[in-house]
Amino acid sequence: MIKKASLLALVICLLLTVLSPSLIQARTGLTLLSSSAQVEFPSRFIFNMSAESDVNITGVRLCYTVDRVSFAQVTSEVCIEFVPTTTVDVSWALEMVRIGGLPPGSSIKYWWIIEDGKGEKIKTTPAQLQFDDTRYSWHSLTEGKVTIYWYEGEESFVRELMAAAQQALTKLGQNTGAYLERPAKLYIYADAQDLQGAMIYPQEWTGGVAFTRYGIMAIGIAPDNLSWGKRAIAHELAHLVIHQMTLNPYNSLPTWLDEGLAMYAEGPLVPLYKAYLDKAIAEDNLISVRSLSSPFSAYTEESLLSYAQSYSLVEFLITSYGQDMMLELLLIFKQGSSYDEALGKAYGFDMDGLDALWRDYITVPTQPVEKELMPPALIGVISALAAVLLLWLGLAIESWAWRRGW
Ligand SMILES: [Zn+2]
Repeated sequence: MIKKASLLALVICLLLTVLSPSLIQARTGLTLLSSSAQVEFPSRFIFNMSAESDVNITGVRLCYTVDRVSFAQVTSEVCIEFVPTTTVDVSWALEMVRIGGLPPGSSIKYWWIIEDGKGEKIKTTPAQLQFDDTRYSWHSLTEGKVTIYWYEGEESFVRELMAAAQQALTKLGQNTGAYLERPAKLYIYADAQDLQGAMIYPQEWTGGVAFTRYGIMAIGIAPDNLSWGKRAIAHELAHLVIHQMTLNPYNSLPTWLDEGLAMYAEGPLVPLYKAYLDKAIAEDNLISVRSLSSPFSAYTEESLLSYAQSYSLVEFLITSYGQDMMLELLLIFKQGSSYDEALGKAYGFDMDGLDALWRDYITVPTQPVEKELMPPALIGVISALAAVLLLWLGLAIESWAWRRGW
């Protein structure tokens, strides 16, 4: 009888073990009760976790990685502060002001590591979290490696933008041999104000930003501002392609080359930029190539001239030496070469040499300027457009610091 009772108890015990493993673990071991996260775009991610154990939980860490191109996998780890107890319920916010912000459409992976006083440890399965701008209802259109997201305007408007993007890629390939290596996401905001609402540190003149390491661009383009939008897309896409192509841990591109290629991808230099360039040539007030290799001045006039000169430098290199040499220059930069060294290897001259050759190129006497041949009516139209162009330029100038940091 005693033997039978013992046997019955053993069977019941085994059944419990087989049928309710979680129940038994919950009572005796470290258990994750819940894990969740919310996105408050563009300000923060909020992570929540609760766990219990039969002894005090002594350590909780949150680990995360940002999904972007980098030279080594970087995992950030946060030790969560709490009072050791058997049941913990913690919450932690990743504030974008601390990391400089993330672009719309980016994502992170996160997981928890929880430890108790007996040395038991749980590492949760990594979860992916999208940093989407949920303020708007986005539609999308994909062609090749480019996806455009938008929320205002007809599909025909977006198809025109997509055609401009594809055209810009083709032109960039023809001029430089550079092509899009990884998919690109392009977020079209209805205007610059909406775009700035997606940023942590917006500049009032930011109209477009390329987050090159994320393969993401964000531009404010109103449906009635299509022609500006096409140029802006070509410009930012060129940045993305060139950065993908030349990314290395040692050195970045000289600013004049990066901006010059982006300006060149837009098409011919717009009249206002050209006016600044012509004025600087006439007054012998050009900025040296060496100075243009650093980030551009924050002063509007000097910044406009910097962009115009960059365009002209790139035009000079492409028209005088061809696509093959430009491709070679970019590939040399990918190896992390210094500015003088890269120019020397590709073209046989350094920054000062480029400066001298380019000055000769732009100061060669040309035909009388079109102004004298221009019909007065057209001059009137252009004058009327000047105010619009000023506004356009205000939108076109970008936050270099933002892009550089990412
Ligand atoms: Zn640019």
